[in-house]
Amino acid sequence: MTDKCPAPSHASLVWFRRDLRCFDHAALYAALKQSQTVFCVFIFDKTILDHLPEHDRRVQFIHQSIVELAHELEKLGGSLIVRYGHAEQEIPRLAAQLQVDTVFVNHDYEPQAVLRDDAIRHHLGQLNCHFLSFKDQVIFEKDEVLTLSNTPFSIFTPYKNAWLKKFLAEGSDFYATPYPIERYAKHLSAHTDRQIPDVQQMGFTTSEHSALPLQGGMSAGNELFKDFLSRIHHYEVARNFPAIKGPSYLSVHLRFGTVSIRHLVREAINCTRTSASMQGAQIWLSELIWRDFYFMILHHHPRVVGHSFKPDYDAIQWESGTSAETSFAAWCQGRTGYPLVDAAMLQLNQTGYMHNRLRMVTACFLIKDLGIDWRWGERYFALHLNDFDLSANNGGWQWAASTGCDAQPYFRIFNPVTQSEKFDPDGKFIRRYLPQLSRLDNKQIHAPWKLSSTILKQAEISLGHNYPAPIVDHDTARKRTLERYAVVKKPSKKMAP
Ligand SMILES: Cc1cc2nc3c(=O)[nH]c(=O)nc-3n(C[C@H](O)[C@H](O)[C@H](O)COP(=O)(O)OP(=O)(O)OC[C@H]3O[C@@H](n4cnc5c(N)ncnc54)[C@H](O)[C@@H]3O)c2cc1C
Repeated sequence: MTDKCPAPSHASLVWFRRDLRCFDHAALYAALKQSQTVFCVFIFDKTILDHLPEHDRRVQFIHQSIVELAHELEKLGGSLIVRYGHAEQEIPRLAAQLQVDTVFVNHDYEPQAVLRDDAIRHHLGQLNCHFLSFKDQVIFEKDEVLTLSNTPFSIFTPYKNAWLKKFLAEGSDFYATPYPIERYAKHLSAHTDRQIPDVQQMGFTTSEHSALPLQGGMSAGNELFKDFLSRIHHYEVARNFPAIKGPSYLSVHLRFGTVSIRHLVREAINCTRTSASMQGAQIWLSELIWRDFYFMILHHHPRVVGHSFKPDYDAIQWESGTSAETSFAAWCQGRTGYPLVDAAMLQLNQTGYMHNRLRMVTACFLIKDLGIDWRWGERYFALHLNDFDLSANNGGWQWAASTGCDAQPYFRIFNPVTQSEKFDPDGKFIRRYLPQLSRLDNKQIHAPWKLSSTILKQAEISLGHNYPAPIVDHDTARKRTLERYAVVKKPSKKMAP
């Protein structure tokens, strides 16, 4: 399952990146098994941090996770060296200082990370130090699940079927077997440098008043998962309604590796064997397979960063200029006049989380109601989502834009009012973020502009003052979108020359 070390290592360094845990960890296990002495490091990487806003909840999440990781490594007899600098300089420098012969990491599939790792591998090579990378954050990666003609899948359902077939063929635990860190933990070395820079020292503010408590670290991830397992039986239905506690909320923990994907998959498979939780667990497992799918797509098609998966779709002309910028700003700030869209954007802005159904609704609204380039929305989500993951975010946006590998057809255009009536029928979610609409009844709340002035007055709503009038008419926008996408319409057989 893992890469092989060229020779037993005398001293090695494990570099933690998006795998902030010390249990069931591929690179840590390989290092401990093959080395006499193992040091551990985490770099607060300026190359990444310098581009983040001062108030970024993810930095605090990472910090909490690092503090706990350091503590847990100490309990195992080791320690965590934490540096604030550029990884490309810090890792080779530390490798030389500690005189290690090997640096162990887990694979990172993002194109920038691949370039960074190549550069570090090269620097380390000049120091006669190996750089070994392991699969850890997915069950299957790269070419491990292929079509019968040995090509990468681009459609999810056959990929999922092949994924499940391969997974179950070896017995249900083979590909999800945990790495038993404790077995070789005696090789951990306790370094004297235990300073952890605080969030403010690195130029970030901390968020005390977040509407959604976001707790970093392995123990918080484990608590969330335990809570979710008690509700997994109704995931199938509950996951669609943003006002209720339906999904797992584990995405940020998956993003930073404070939970282990193997552990999650093992438990999900176990739940599929119990009739009460079978359906919910099967669907949740599918979501985890979507995650593997998008990592695989990014690996094989790094051009999806910035380009449509289907090249023809790059010919679409999006709205531009001041009016596009104005409507984009209204979308970002939750001022479109469509309550579900606005409440969803406020959820994102206030908590860093957005429910999956709402990610689809808001993305579709930006692209197909406002005619704005999906890449603008992708960038906004990347900046604001706690769980931002390049592969899943790009996959989600390209799905909504119909430009992606297994995307919704371009003529499928969500109606934001119908979505609201269906998935927030009591307006409970809308009221949470838009209290100014709370006096409207459950039917009225989805489209306030359709109400008479008397009803609006009774509900103390003044459109354009305490809540916006809609910035676009959905039916008109729908027609414009169909015209916009005409450039990618395949000619029918009859019309073809
Ligand atoms: C426009 C758009 C942008 C998105 N951006 C991201 C992103 O940056 N990061 C991210 O993790 N997910 C993203 N998603 C997918 C999905 O919305 C989130 O994973 C989910 O809402 C996270 O909440 P949860 O952990 O409670 O999910 P659950 O419903 O509990 O799902 C469990 C896990 O499965 C994975 N998952 C679920 N749905 C998907 C999916 N469609 N694609 C890939 N993995 C999935 C996630 O890791 C998630 O934590 C995006 C979806 C859309 C439509």
